[in-house]
Amino acid sequence: MSKPVLLTVDDDPEVLNAVERDLRAHYQTDYRVVKASSGAQALDAVQQLKQRGSQVALFLVDERMPQMTGTQFLAEAIKIYPDARRVLLTAYADTETAITAINKIGLDHYILKPWEPPSSQLYPVLDDLLSDWFARARPSFDGIRLAGTAYSPASFAVKDFLASNQVPYQWLDMDDETAVRELLSGASGGVTRLPLVFFPDGEMLVQPSTRELAEKLGMQTRAQKPFYDLIVVGGGPAGLAASVYGASEGLRTILIEQSAPGGQAGTSSSIENYLGFPSGISGADLARRAATQAKRFGAEIITAQEAVEIRREDPYRKVILSDGSELSGYAILIAPGMEVRRLETPGVEELLGVGVYYGAALTEAAACRGRDVIIVGAANSAGQGAMFFSRHARKVTMLVRGSDLSAGMSRYLVDRIAETPNVEVLLNTVVAGARGDGRLETVTVQNAVSGDERDITATAMFIFVGARPRTALCGKLVTRDEQGFVLTGRDVLVDGRRPAGWTAARDPFPFETNVPGIFCAGDARYGSGKRVAAAVGEGSATVSMIHQYLQTV
Ligand SMILES: Cc1cc2nc3c(=O)[nH]c(=O)nc-3n(C[C@H](O)[C@H](O)[C@H](O)COP(=O)(O)OP(=O)(O)OC[C@H]3O[C@@H](n4cnc5c(N)ncnc54)[C@H](O)[C@@H]3O)c2cc1C
Repeated sequence: MSKPVLLTVDDDPEVLNAVERDLRAHYQTDYRVVKASSGAQALDAVQQLKQRGSQVALFLVDERMPQMTGTQFLAEAIKIYPDARRVLLTAYADTETAITAINKIGLDHYILKPWEPPSSQLYPVLDDLLSDWFARARPSFDGIRLAGTAYSPASFAVKDFLASNQVPYQWLDMDDETAVRELLSGASGGVTRLPLVFFPDGEMLVQPSTRELAEKLGMQTRAQKPFYDLIVVGGGPAGLAASVYGASEGLRTILIEQSAPGGQAGTSSSIENYLGFPSGISGADLARRAATQAKRFGAEIITAQEAVEIRREDPYRKVILSDGSELSGYAILIAPGMEVRRLETPGVEELLGVGVYYGAALTEAAACRGRDVIIVGAANSAGQGAMFFSRHARKVTMLVRGSDLSAGMSRYLVDRIAETPNVEVLLNTVVAGARGDGRLETVTVQNAVSGDERDITATAMFIFVGARPRTALCGKLVTRDEQGFVLTGRDVLVDGRRPAGWTAARDPFPFETNVPGIFCAGDARYGSGKRVAAAVGEGSATVSMIHQYLQTV
């Protein structure tokens, strides 16, 4: 396969040669560097590359060029290569233009000229963008192939696991005759259950569990060490942050995640309020970066394993996993976040995974292309879901129980929705039923004020009606409030006194539960901030308390 291309454009021959030289010096093993001396010449090159089936990973373009500016060139070039990363070379005076370009053409970065030395001014930025591009690039396919039917819960579960763990796969729809023929010619013996997962080494799994998949994919599903300083339950922002800080500060750290690192945040199509990402970052990206960072510092991350119980065996703390195995350590951080609330409406449960989904189910974007979808809910997650599907669906209808969209949604999202022509918001409206023959076809909605009902045709309905803490593993050991949120710090004191069974000669630390050495951070904690940044902050802050605790055991 030919190398992906880095295309650089500048009308100043000296600058162009300097960029080309620096790019070649660092990237020529993995990429082909192509240069052009004007926007028009570069667009010709882009057309030719497309015709030859080449991939373009990055455009690095001077803003100030006669005839066609860098921004104008990028606006055209990304129509042909929408996934290529976009970087402008700018003079200080062009900063405003570059900031405008972030919004207009999704500019990824701007680099001020001169970029000396490239080792600190050029390569770190490009390395980051290229690793990002590489994670999503779809080279000619020689990887995992997943065959199933679009409207099958089992197929959806496998798609969801692969996608949330960012494992690339090719989807073969069994309703498509060509795919069926291709599969049957490759699969030995009769195949009666779907989906089938074909691996490049020739092995095939039939309707695999997530653990089987994880193991086959070479993911870690079992602990490697006999003992840890810190056991983290839950790989959302709180757990990932604790793992990064714990491992980076020398703690033997393991994180247990039942599905995929990222948690609720990992399902967000675009997180726009997280510090340092002015044009937003997808939850999947954030999760991938955080998990990589944690592993780089030596944290173990095991996936497809659920923590089902925690135990106190002084001075040790233990976590029991769903396969019956046991992890031992000194301290535990509970960071299991929230799980979605179910919509108790006729027809919804039967159509789960076949048109009805909890959360954004980003894997279904292709199936929604040009069709009508429904979003239920009015919090930020519902707003983000509506914006995401508005880019794929013909029409998005939002069903909002209350009379005001802005009651539970950030202003910027309310404004975005108002500006998006194919999103319709129905206020005072609830779901009264869902119907379909083998898949969702119709949703009955009811006006909560008048009681009037009507049917809406929809290919998919994505439900965002809130969440509850996923803290069953606490059992009777760790105190929770009546809604299941874990109490920490001063909240575990009873009439100002330390809780029963408390053995330490001090009050609980701010994120410590009623059991010394068992901490809780993130959405599952009573009184937490319910935001990505808040969860990251709590997860990180807990580590210094864990250090103090470890000095006493
Ligand atoms: C669609 C959506 C969009 C959002 N957008 C934004 C946004 O733009 N900005 C913002 O600030 N916030 C946003 N939020 C909220 C934000 O995602 C949460 O506040 C944050 O993810 C909470 O982090 P957490 O680590 O506490 O828990 P979670 O993110 O819920 O992660 C918990 C993790 O623990 C795992 N887990 C649970 N129980 C177990 C167990 N027993 N064993 C093993 N693993 C377990 C789960 O699988 C999960 O991966 C959004 C939420 C959603 C759902």
